[in-house]
Amino acid sequence: MPSALSILHRTSRTPDTWVFEGHVVVLKRHPRARRYTLRLNRDNELVVTVPRGGSHHHALEFVQRSRGWIDGQRLRRQGAPGHATEWCAGTDLLLRGHRVLLALGHEQGRPYVSCGDERIFIADRSMNLRRPVEAHLLRLARTELPRRTRELAREHGITVARISVRNQSSRWGSCSATGVISLNWRLIQAPDWVRDYLVIHELMHRREMNHSIRFWRHVAHACPRWREAEAWLDRHAVELGF
Ligand SMILES: [Zn+2]
Repeated sequence: MPSALSILHRTSRTPDTWVFEGHVVVLKRHPRARRYTLRLNRDNELVVTVPRGGSHHHALEFVQRSRGWIDGQRLRRQGAPGHATEWCAGTDLLLRGHRVLLALGHEQGRPYVSCGDERIFIADRSMNLRRPVEAHLLRLARTELPRRTRELAREHGITVARISVRNQSSRWGSCSATGVISLNWRLIQAPDWVRDYLVIHELMHRREMNHSIRFWRHVAHACPRWREAEAWLDRHAVELGF
């Protein structure tokens, strides 16, 4: 059997970040932890808690032994509701943190679906409304999210190279070493304060390209409600298609 280390490759991000079968593995040392534990975070990274006296080597072996659990978690996220369901009149969804109902109407013979204050013209009343509604939300997100990101960047004196809003299936956002901020369009479904947290999180990666204590200190300073926002994102991840 090959040793754990032979199939794990170090990444350049930080010394404690590795790649295991396509997953980013982050090792976190916790002097008070009694054993190794594993969880999948919002960014789909495997976070391994390393107890006092634990080693990289044992942590990585622990990941390798947990392969069954990891596969199960992956499948659960892929099969989560929101990936394949049909939307019709009466379907409720989140928009800017408010629950809105899809309703059908028509104006001068043209059918539309309404969703909160938004009105989206559609080809046919009997169609699955998911596609036109999601496409509309994506368009809204492409205007609103970059505008807000630029505002927050200015407020915190951070420069960004480019902002892209995309349809990512497993991440809320990311920040590249060159300063490109990518945001998931579904953030438009979250309340403003949660969206702002996520944007601030990515912006603070311009100061620290990791999740170190220093990084979280920047986040907490700029966004005191960050824990609450993280909890909101966790609670709604499945509904929002993660
Ligand atoms: Zn991050």
